[in-house]
Amino acid sequence: MHDADSDKVRDSQYLVLCPECRVHLNAFVEAVREVMQLSQLQMDALLANEADPHRFDLLIHDASERKQNAKYAYLVHLDSHRGASQR
Ligand SMILES: [Zn+2]
Repeated sequence: MHDADSDKVRDSQYLVLCPECRVHLNAFVEAVREVMQLSQLQMDALLANEADPHRFDLLIHDASERKQNAKYAYLVHLDSHRGASQR
């Protein structure tokens, strides 16, 4: 019984990732990581009273844009899975 229940949860909550999904997901994860790292660097600069902590803003903006693009590419690819059965 317990096994059947956990199978049900797995089916409903987790996506089956094809190789291309993984590529997109990894790119998305890396982009999120980049935004986090730049934000951390900015935080460090602020806490250290660095002269120009704003130099990070443009970098964070660019990284955020890459994150959005990576997310969009991933979602478009996921949609292609849903559409596959309709074609
Ligand atoms: Zn896929």
